[in-house]
Amino acid sequence: MPANIFASLADYHTHTPLCRHAEGWPVDYARVAVERGLGELGFADHNPMPEQFDDWRMLREELPRYIEAVEEARALFPQLNIKLGLECDFIPGHEWWIEELAGMADWDYLIGSVHYLRQGWEVDHPQYIARHKGHAEEIWRDYWDLYVQCIRSGLFDFVAHPDLPKKFGITPPGDLRRYYNPAVVALAETGTPFEINTAGLRRDCREMYPARGFVELAHAAGVPMLISSDAHTPGDVGANFEEAAALAKDCGYTHTLRFAKRKSSSVPLA
Ligand code: ZN
Ligand code: FE
Ligand code: FE
Ligand code: ZN
Repeated sequence: MPANIFASLADYHTHTPLCRHAEGWPVDYARVAVERGLGELGFADHNPMPEQFDDWRMLREELPRYIEAVEEARALFPQLNIKLGLECDFIPGHEWWIEELAGMADWDYLIGSVHYLRQGWEVDHPQYIARHKGHAEEIWRDYWDLYVQCIRSGLFDFVAHPDLPKKFGITPPGDLRRYYNPAVVALAETGTPFEINTAGLRRDCREMYPARGFVELAHAAGVPMLISSDAHTPGDVGANFEEAAALAKDCGYTHTLRFAKRKSSSVPLA
């Protein structure tokens, strides 16, 4: 893998302390991005909700502080393209709120994520690991059904960590393409890109989100992809991007995406 792979990549999925479970401000992430020679950096902290909803996202009144923090990084690192985004929870019934959020800032992209299952608990929260044991099939059915709805909502510029429920290393038995397929069809039909998220390598599942089988299906269906770190600390900016790019290329990808003002453009992988 050539050393300049970083220059062709953007890391658009990073967090800030406003979500209460990340460290490092945008200026700190930007410093690392410059050091590593990343093509672009973007922020996608967990979206605010209309009223306090849980304890792992910025409050509604903190949105200006978030935007200001991204502006600070832009001012300090003019040599780096720094993008403004949000990681938005897709929750059926809350679509109106995402539409409102979309008008609240000059977003470069909105990422759609499913963390909450229908029963109202987070599929990736370590507090609920025990709920996965013996229930992977139900959890996966519920999750992927929501994920397809998230894609089809048309609210998002790309979708995050496709097979997130595998985080703790617990998956249903057999060929998991029965879950991937409807999501890939939805991506292809709506023209929605997905991310290869390297955070999975840092979890018990020890593989990227999504698994290779998903990437292969997505490439065959002509779905564009991005590579993201989901960094919650500056040291993870661009983490494992060489492996992610190698996986993407191996599955046939030759291009990745950039976003500006919610419009995508294709760039070749180095
Ligand atoms: Zn987070
Ligand atoms: Fe997430
Ligand atoms: Fe995230
Ligand atoms: Zn995420």
